[in-house]
Amino acid sequence: MATARHVIVAGAGIAGLTAALALARAGLRVTVLEQAARPEETGAGIQLSPNATRVLIALGLRDLLAPMVMAPQATRVMAGGSGHAIVRIPLGGEAERRYGAPYWTIHRGDLQAALAAAAKSTIDITIKLGTRVDDFVAHIKGVTVQGRSDRQVVDERGVALIGADGIWSSVATQLRRQRKPRFTHRTAWRALIPADAVPAEFREPLVHLWLGLDAHLVHYPVKGGRLINIVVIVHDEWNETGWSAEGSRVEILRHFARWSWAEKARELIAIPDQWLKWALYDRNSAFRGGVGPVTLIGDAAHPMLPFLAQGAGMAIEDAAVLADMLGKYLDDPADALRAYEGARRLRTARAQQASRRQARIYGLTGPEALIRNLGMRLLGGERLRARYDWLYNWQPPEFIAHQSQPL
Ligand SMILES: Cc1cc2nc3c(=O)[nH]c(=O)nc-3n(C[C@H](O)[C@H](O)[C@H](O)COP(=O)(O)OP(=O)(O)OC[C@H]3O[C@@H](n4cnc5c(N)ncnc54)[C@H](O)[C@@H]3O)c2cc1C
Repeated sequence: MATARHVIVAGAGIAGLTAALALARAGLRVTVLEQAARPEETGAGIQLSPNATRVLIALGLRDLLAPMVMAPQATRVMAGGSGHAIVRIPLGGEAERRYGAPYWTIHRGDLQAALAAAAKSTIDITIKLGTRVDDFVAHIKGVTVQGRSDRQVVDERGVALIGADGIWSSVATQLRRQRKPRFTHRTAWRALIPADAVPAEFREPLVHLWLGLDAHLVHYPVKGGRLINIVVIVHDEWNETGWSAEGSRVEILRHFARWSWAEKARELIAIPDQWLKWALYDRNSAFRGGVGPVTLIGDAAHPMLPFLAQGAGMAIEDAAVLADMLGKYLDDPADALRAYEGARRLRTARAQQASRRQARIYGLTGPEALIRNLGMRLLGGERLRARYDWLYNWQPPEFIAHQSQPL
């Protein structure tokens, strides 16, 4: 493939696929190299706030995603000990009117599959599965990327390489500009159960967030309401990498002691036979960009702890800004990439910090937890949601904002 207007993306996760779609919209040709032979359809539900759905809708994905998403009416914050609702933070139609885009929940596998389907039907995008990016060399006309599959070595030449290869990014490692991720002494556990296995109140289109001793618990319907996605975050010393280690049911139940957790929550946690877990890693330094014709997006650039539910959101925002800059300044890709990094640095750092702060607030215990709960109740749902206006009101660059044709 000729180099001009050709961009190589390492990784076909949420960041890489959204970037490919946005770059194609900006008039570029894209090759995505993904190490997995087929995209892993595991993963838990993820939340997509209006800052992210606005981009997906502008990319023409609304109809494709419609059967897979749920639009929760509210986040219902629950006290883990008493089982009482603390506050109801309105989402649904109210959030859509306020922010001009919906708040959705979706299974990560469904989002990835929808993005991959849209990419496959875009003439300017090629996805090479089972191809791991091993190495790259920058040169005067751009970059040569070496990928390795079972059978062969693949060389791709392009004007830029986008490292969308996740928190353990090999592109970032090769750039030598990234500090190693730091274990946060927490693990996240996830399970999917049939909706008819849970009480009717948990089948409602709501995000339930339980704040309790030694754990916080989030659950909501996914797959059009057929399944309930459960995620539990606990303090833990298990620190292996990867997204899908098997978790022991007995072990997770131990975090939900009878004396500290409401029966309703304990019953819910007891339903799944199978749990998968992953260790939570963070990076002390904020956004790290690239060098020359190489940059990073999504978790490779700025891993997000899940407490603000912005891992996918920040990756999707990155993709829109990156495509805008590369499309505008293609005659100097390195400058375009530095402009993208400059545009994203403060915002992603703010989201990372807000996520860490949220982790501390969720983890409060004893009298501090009571004060937190009282404070939330006094503030009320609307004002709590308004504290995220800076996050949800984010507007994509004009060239994305003005697109909304189906692909
Ligand atoms: C299987 C899986 C399950 C997940 N489950 C959850 C979840 O339940 N909850 C949650 O909050 N977050 C989950 N995440 C992370 C979440 O998707 C991301 O935090 C967020 O969407 C940002 O995505 P990303 O594209 O930057 O990174 P990722 O989603 O991690 O995607 C990176 C992609 O790059 C590929 N890759 C890695 N190295 C190379 C290489 N050298 N060459 C080519 N390809 C490479 C990976 O296979 C992967 O497809 C999961 C990620 C994965 C990969």
